[in-house]
Amino acid sequence: QHTVIFIYFPPDNSFSENKAHTMAYDHDGEDILKPLVFRLHESVPEAVREVLLERGWSEFDEQEQDDADWNLYWQNSPFRMTDHRSIKPWQRLNHYPETVRITRKDYLARHLKRMKGIYGPSLYEFSPVAFIMPNDYVKFIAEYTKERQSQGKKPSYWICKPVDLSRGRGILIFQDIKDFVYDCMVIVQKYISNPLLISGYKSDLRLYVCVTSFCPLTIYAYDEGLVRFATEKFDLSSLDNVYAHLTNTSINKFGASYKKNKEGIGHGCKWTFSKFRSYLRSHEVDDLLLWQRINNIIMLTLLAITPSVPLTSNCFELFGFDILIDDTFKPWLLEVNYSPALRLDCSIDTTVKKRLLHDIIELLNYKQTDTLRENKEPGTKASYAGRTHIPLRTQGENATDDAPNFLASRQESEWTATSAVQSLLEVAGGSFKKEAIVIGKMARTHPRKTLTSQLRERMNRLKTSSQSKAASKSKQLPGARHPAHASVQVTHWLPTTELCNYKLTIPPYFLSTKDKRPFPRVGDFVLIFPFNDAALEASRNGVDVKSIVQEIHKLMNKQSPPGQQKVKKRKDYLTFR
Ligand code: ADP
Repeated sequence: QHTVIFIYFPPDNSFSENKAHTMAYDHDGEDILKPLVFRLHESVPEAVREVLLERGWSEFDEQEQDDADWNLYWQNSPFRMTDHRSIKPWQRLNHYPETVRITRKDYLARHLKRMKGIYGPSLYEFSPVAFIMPNDYVKFIAEYTKERQSQGKKPSYWICKPVDLSRGRGILIFQDIKDFVYDCMVIVQKYISNPLLISGYKSDLRLYVCVTSFCPLTIYAYDEGLVRFATEKFDLSSLDNVYAHLTNTSINKFGASYKKNKEGIGHGCKWTFSKFRSYLRSHEVDDLLLWQRINNIIMLTLLAITPSVPLTSNCFELFGFDILIDDTFKPWLLEVNYSPALRLDCSIDTTVKKRLLHDIIELLNYKQTDTLRENKEPGTKASYAGRTHIPLRTQGENATDDAPNFLASRQESEWTATSAVQSLLEVAGGSFKKEAIVIGKMARTHPRKTLTSQLRERMNRLKTSSQSKAASKSKQLPGARHPAHASVQVTHWLPTTELCNYKLTIPPYFLSTKDKRPFPRVGDFVLIFPFNDAALEASRNGVDVKSIVQEIHKLMNKQSPPGQQKVKKRKDYLTFR
């Protein structure tokens, strides 16, 4: 099969001077561009399918399509190593291997304890003291007894959680050891008994974090997220009232007050981060500093497993970080969730999670070439072997020209001086900051409507399948923000296995050019790691955890110099109650 490459110069020079755009046709001049194809495991929530259809993707059909003829495979459980090994260049998997090492409560506790031992308690004191039962029973009793015997100190409250359950199942809170019973493997954690209360209600934060590469380490934190409230007022005299002490939606939606209009909180049990931030600002709380501290927790936690994640490319991992803020505005890490819930339970879920899903697809950096799954190989219906690969990017091209075009459609106000990325980069300082911000700005000024996108729109208009009808119907759904097919034009940096070993394969001067850096912001995903050149360098050629931790330490000192650790003075936060 012959492939003809047409060089296309847009008549209006709209996106970049002298920049050629390539498109492939087969020898009959027939279009060979196809919609991107997703493959979902049956347990994946419907929202994922909805968003992908809205974007013009089609669903994998086992009967009709070859095994490899898909671009994204999404499931809630880990993939087999053979799936990772047989990955094709145009495919992505939604999990890295071995990431459960921080998503099971006991593994996380063990890893964080190890990191604390190596790098010191001042950095790793963000997770409540924990004991894994039954192994740590003796240690727990020793700690419990020591506390009881120390004069003038109020004994701690403890929370006991099964290590591999979620959604608040099997949780017990106690102060007296006689109330402590367990019949499976559990962790017993110090209970944060002074949570930040809003109108008397406890809450925690669900943060979405996407790792697009473990080597070089690349971490994006989502700027928007969920604040999840308990639906009854916090009260330490009723430890068995789950509606007052647990903030899981799966529990609180069954509470008697769930639907009621609760003073200061409203109906239901969720806020967006946007609402929470404006609430904090209205109470003169430095929400940026709070967010920087949360970002530090995310980086330090992920570093605990980074060296042990096998080198694999074409995957990403979406984590759900649960953070509880206490009444001194100290953020605590409660746990890290694997496959965080993407079900749409209420309108706030729809706002946050659908947008999140759109932005994940943007982050995945699908290129035009990912849709060309055409060439045949004997014995298969379609395969990659022998495929003509058409590079969209050539050496020397500026990354700013390849910026995701959806950035252009963002409101100016969304790229404000108060955005987390800018604050982080401002603290980081140096050339990295300037370049990163310039990339963001230029990205906005180059909206693109390429021949490819027009052709794809035309092809999709012609489609008569029920799938395409469903897609076009869902395009009108409220909350659908991104134009369909925007993803095919995204060609920004995504690290690959080859890049990881670049010191061996590619001259260093080539890689230090700015287009080998990740984008500082993709949709509402904000790059939190690497945050400066030193951090980037230390995470490229195998991850140098020690150097990275040192860089984070320096960053933390800049964010809040010793003596200025508090987000807000104690007398002020009492107004929250
Ligand atoms: P699950 O995976 O079952 O949701 P979590 O660790 O997230 O378990 O705990 C469930 C809820 O219990 C949290 O959302 C939070 O409200 C509360 N919680 C958990 N650990 C603590 C703690 N150490 N201190 C205070 N509250 C906690």
